Amino acid sequence: PVKIALVGRPNVGKSTLFNRLAGKRLALVDDTPGVTRDRREGEGALGDLSFTIIDTPGLEEAPEAALEGRMRKQTDAAVMEADACLLLIDARAGVTPLDKTFAGLLRESGKPVILLANKAEGSAGEAGFYDAYALGVGEPIAISAEHGEGMGELYNALEPFIAEAEGEEEEADEAAEWDNPLKPLRVAIIGRPNAGKSTLVNRLIGEERLLTGPEAGITRDSISVEWVWRGKDRDWPVKLFDTAGMRRKSRVQSKLEKLSVADALRAIKFAEVAVLLLDAEHPFDKQDLQIADLALREGRALVIAVNKWDLIEEKDAKIREIREMAARLLPQAPGLPIVTLSALTGGGIRRLMPAVVQVYIDWNARVKTPELNEWLQEAVQRHAPPAVSGQRIKIRYIAQTKTRPPTFVAQCTRAEDLPAAYKRYLVNGIREAFDIKAVPVRLILKKPD
Ligand code: GDP
Repeated sequence: PVKIALVGRPNVGKSTLFNRLAGKRLALVDDTPGVTRDRREGEGALGDLSFTIIDTPGLEEAPEAALEGRMRKQTDAAVMEADACLLLIDARAGVTPLDKTFAGLLRESGKPVILLANKAEGSAGEAGFYDAYALGVGEPIAISAEHGEGMGELYNALEPFIAEAEGEEEEADEAAEWDNPLKPLRVAIIGRPNAGKSTLVNRLIGEERLLTGPEAGITRDSISVEWVWRGKDRDWPVKLFDTAGMRRKSRVQSKLEKLSVADALRAIKFAEVAVLLLDAEHPFDKQDLQIADLALREGRALVIAVNKWDLIEEKDAKIREIREMAARLLPQAPGLPIVTLSALTGGGIRRLMPAVVQVYIDWNARVKTPELNEWLQEAVQRHAPPAVSGQRIKIRYIAQTKTRPPTFVAQCTRAEDLPAAYKRYLVNGIREAFDIKAVPVRLILKKPD
């Protein structure tokens, strides 16, 4: 379950809120000395939301002098584990320096924060409520943990975090069994109206299951079709999402352009691999780029397919032009596979699915930590990071934290000063060394702990 940490100085009402949210007490005690000794965890619930709630109640009794350092450690440990944090202040007491310390700590952590101005029953604590904006962690929510006020607002604020974190857990499950031969590979065919998406889907599944044609208003019920692609090494069940079908359901002509991007986004969210279908006669128009950017930002694997290739006379010149445009207009994704085809005649079609499967495999790539670090050492030796104001930037450790897309975290001193060109050098190095050619690689630089 999603973990929510309660954070705040003593006496703001963390325990009261803990008790209100936690039904069953787990009384989980970690015995790592000094760090998590006083941690309390419980199964929390608010409406239909359920989560694990972490509190640091031992702090309330800690002697004043020892407080700050200990508190910081405790909070750090809880925050690190949490998916989101509730920062409590006492709205009647107003904002204190210690509240600011906690807010700063949470901002640094990068975790989502919900700010709660507690003890605000009735209209008590109005002044403190407005002060709370100054903490720089967003809009406060007035609650009374003791009287149960403001729980509806808290629900509204928590719900998106929990939904998102649960989505990530689901993704992690999928990543664990990505090559299960029974699990359909989800592919979205995206592109602007009339690129030939429906024609391509028909061609791929080999029957006139979908209706195509230049006239608008053709409808059909389903937005996805399943079929099995017979690959060289194995069969791949495939679920195809065709955005044209979604669009044609809408009869609002004037909104066509806007809708097709919104529909593409919906299909992208369903999909693992997105195939951006271009019209060879008008490649990379504004809408195409918008859609490609969406797919990449959503972290999807992407294949560029250039349709209506039968209409092109100067094929060599055309493919050079398209490659050059891809490099220039989509610099965030070098190495995207580009497949030329004709959905109408079927020419080139058989090259599409191998490209889709290849990006899917790259997208799921996982590199072992020792190999990565061996590579990092070599890369840094070959070409050392620059010095900033007399101090050399050091990159000490790298690990892959995620797949789909491959995401790496490196520990780097003065991470904010590392030139973009050097980061590109590292990303390209990873792509080369571990043969992750067809999908974008994400590299996050983190200050050493
Ligand atoms: P969608 O809006 O992207 O689904 O596009 P359609 O599949 O409905 O195709 C739009 C028009 O382009 C139709 O008239 C198709 O016959 C035509 N078309 C699709 N693919 C090709 C192709 O490879 N070559 C040619 N010449 N025309 C095509």
